[in-house]
This record gives sequence, C-alpha cells and structure tokens, in this order.
Amino acid sequence: MESFRVAIVGGGVCGLTCAVGLSKQGVDVHVYEAAAKFGEIGAGIGLGRNAINVLSSLGVYEDIRSRAMQVDALNLKNSARRPTDDIRGWFRYHSGMGGHEVLSDYGANEQTAQGVHRAAFMDALVQHVEPSRAHFNKRCTHLTEGPGGKGTTIHFQDGTTAEADVVLGADGIKSVVRRYVMDTASLGVDPNVKFSNTICYRSLVPVVRAAEAGCTFDYSERAVCFVGENKHLILFTVRDPDSSPEKYSLPPLAAVQQVTKEEVLNAYKGWGPEVTNLLSCMDSPTKWSISVVYPPIKSENWTRGPVAILGDAAHGMLPHLGAGAGQGLEDAYLLGQLLGHPQTKASNVEAVLRAYASVRQPRAHQVWENSKRAGDIWDSRAGYYGIRVEEVRSLWGYVWHHPVDADLHTAEEILITQGVFEKLQ
Ligand SMILES: Cc1cc2nc3c(=O)[nH]c(=O)nc-3n(C[C@H](O)[C@H](O)[C@H](O)COP(=O)(O)OP(=O)(O)OC[C@H]3O[C@@H](n4cnc5c(N)ncnc54)[C@H](O)[C@@H]3O)c2cc1C
Repeated sequence: MESFRVAIVGGGVCGLTCAVGLSKQGVDVHVYEAAAKFGEIGAGIGLGRNAINVLSSLGVYEDIRSRAMQVDALNLKNSARRPTDDIRGWFRYHSGMGGHEVLSDYGANEQTAQGVHRAAFMDALVQHVEPSRAHFNKRCTHLTEGPGGKGTTIHFQDGTTAEADVVLGADGIKSVVRRYVMDTASLGVDPNVKFSNTICYRSLVPVVRAAEAGCTFDYSERAVCFVGENKHLILFTVRDPDSSPEKYSLPPLAAVQQVTKEEVLNAYKGWGPEVTNLLSCMDSPTKWSISVVYPPIKSENWTRGPVAILGDAAHGMLPHLGAGAGQGLEDAYLLGQLLGHPQTKASNVEAVLRAYASVRQPRAHQVWENSKRAGDIWDSRAGYYGIRVEEVRSLWGYVWHHPVDADLHTAEEILITQGVFEKLQ
C-alpha cells in the first residue's frame, strides 16, 4: 500500500471508529476535534447487531461491553434484578395510557441489540487511538485545495491549518466538510439540514429509584416502547450510569437544552402510571430539537475529489430506530477497509472514495426512510393505532441483518469493473 495522509474532521463516535479502523489497517491518520477532549453526552445508545458486528471486527466491542458491564453490576447491586448480558430480544410495545396493555412483543428470542452508555462507548474507543494522532480545540472553519492543487488544506478557527491527502468529514449534522463537498459554504443557511419538527426529551433513571417510585415493569431484559398519539416513550437498560458532571456535560449545541422535570411530565399528561412514575424520577432531563439531513444527499455528492463525508454529516436521520450511529459505524468500517486496501494508492483514492459513497448511500438512505416510518408507527400516525409485528420486523431487520463485509465486497466489485482494482485472487 502506497502511503497517504488521512485527516478526519470530528471525533464523535463515527470519526473515532473511523480512526480506529484506519489505524488498524496501517493508514496514517489524524483526528481534528473541535472540543477540548473526546466526549459524549449523558445518554444511552442502542447498538444494533450490525453496529456490534462492526465493533467486534475492529476488536473494540469486548472492551466497550466489559467497561459497561463492570459499572452496571455495581449499580444494580441492591436490586432484585440481575445484571444482564446482551439484551435478549428487543422492544415490547405497550400502550402509554391506562393499564399499559401489550400491543406487541417483538423478537423475544432474538439477540439483536445492546444498550450502552455513550460515554462508556467513547472511553473504550479512545483507548484505541494513539494520543499523538488526536488534536483538540481544532474547529474546522473551511477547506481549500492544497498547495499546487495537491491534497486539501483544513483551516481551523484558531488560525492554524493542516494538510492531508484525504479528508473525511465526520463533523456531525452541521458539518462544515459537507458544505465544502456540496459547495454550499457561501450560502447563509445550509440547504441540507432541516428541523424535523421532532422534539426529544432524554434522561437516565437509576433502576433502583424507578422501582422505589412504584414502577413495576422489568426493563432489564427487554427494551420497552410506550406508544401514544403523536408521542412515544422508549426505555432501555443502559450500562454505566455514571453521572459525574465532567463526563456528561451537554455538548455546546443550541439544539440541546436543560429542561425541568415538570415540562416533561406536562408533555405526558394523561399517560398511565408506569410512565408518570418513571418520569417523576428524572434528575436533569434534556430537550433535543432533532434536525436531519434533508433532502437526501446523492452518492455523487458524498465526495469531492479526495474529500468524503460519513456519519450524521452524510445522513443524519430521525432517532426512532436507534440506527443513526450504526450507519455511521458501517461508513467508518468500509472507509477503513477501502483506504487500507492493498490496491488503494494516492493515484486512485478518489475513485475509491466514490465507490465507498455509491455503496453506502443507498443503504444509509433506506435506514433514514425506515427511521421516519418507525416514528410514524410509534406515534400512531401510520394510519392505525398499534404495532404490526411484520412491519416492525422488516424495518429493524433491514438495519440489523447486514453482513459486516458485504459493503467491502460490493465496493471491490465496482472498482474491479471500473478497472481501478485488479481482479482479486
Ligand atoms: C435523541 C437521539 C437518540 C439517538 N439514539 C441512537 C441510538 O440509540 N443508536 C444509534 O445508533 N444512534 C442513535 N442516535 C443517532 C446518533 O446519536 C448519531 O447518529 C451519531 O451520534 C452520529 O455520530 P457522528 O460521529 O456522525 O456525529 P456527532 O456525534 O455529532 O459527532 C461529531 C463530532 O464532530 C465534532 N465537530 C463538529 N463540528 C466540527 C468542526 N467544524 N470541526 C471539528 N470538529 C467538529 C463534534 O464536536 C463532535 O465530536 C440518536 C440520536 C438522537 C438525537
């Protein structure tokens, strides 16, 4: 492999996973993060089977899981509930009202997903990134072509610059790199991000405290979705509920605000006792205004020369299937495999990035559509009240059941057909 320098703008879950994937393939990679350190907000993240497969293939999943499990065992020590292994089966759907009748019980025997704490997830990933390759307080303001038309120059807010042969934009929904790639930087408002008219309240509630408040459901083995009209409530067990403030402070986003418990209780006024008891246990709920990438970005616009986007920068979606990060992890994994491929070199890297985009865009967009559909179902806007198991199974099945190397094989085939790669032995 001919060496070239890769710079990742943004060290969130997707940027870091990409850095791990690239460095494991021996690629020269540096990460430039706007914040003073890598970190995540105090919330859970559901990792679907597809995301777990990516993390396992990168050799980091056991680390994530063991960190999370250690703390979980401590926190549940006074509870009658046993610390669980991976969640067996995924959602059970209940009415949010009255006696919370079961609407549907999805996949009771399928081991499909794991809920972990975002900070535990990040901590585990960070261990696999060499410190000298991580650069903080580096907020990218814009990109320009490199000197003599070679490579790309990344400009930072502090007046410094960095040069790279390949730049990957993992800088989230408000991506600066996307604006370079789509040539929209001169427009006042980014035409590819829209508020989705969706608000999300989030909080962590200690299992023991919920039980004391009169909650009777067992959330330790099954994720639960309370379905209502134009709103729903999702609960899953999260390992590592450490709430030390320096770890879990809010990101500097206007889109996230601290709100009172009363505001959330008011939003769910009239719902049944399990829901209101749970909400009464929240300490410091947050309110998220959810923006999405819309209209969808065509695959030919995921790259511009040696610059490409991944994660939320490319396909920020509604959170209703808990699938957004998983799609970004799939992007990151394919980029690692392709840029570390024995046949990739500085002279063909642009074609390799285009192959990445043409493979990843259709799948990520389908998951974007599935996530929107899921929200319509959970909020009873699908034309019926209730849950049709087969429909839900197919929305989630598409996300989860994706062989980890499928994208690589498809991209290799494209590159061989184009004459960029030689036929593999
Ligand atoms: C309420 C909610 C619940 C969700 N639940 C799930 C779930 O259960 N499972 C799941 O898979 N997904 C879930 N998602 C989606 C998931 O959070 C995102 O898809 C994922 O965090 C995107 O990761 P990212 O690395 O692409 O972007 P981000 O996490 O946004 O990271 C971007 C990084 O880039 C940095 N950055 C930004 N701008 C710049 C710049 N100009 N220069 C340098 N650095 C910059 C930021 O500081 C940050 O570190 C949820 C989303 C929401 C809103």
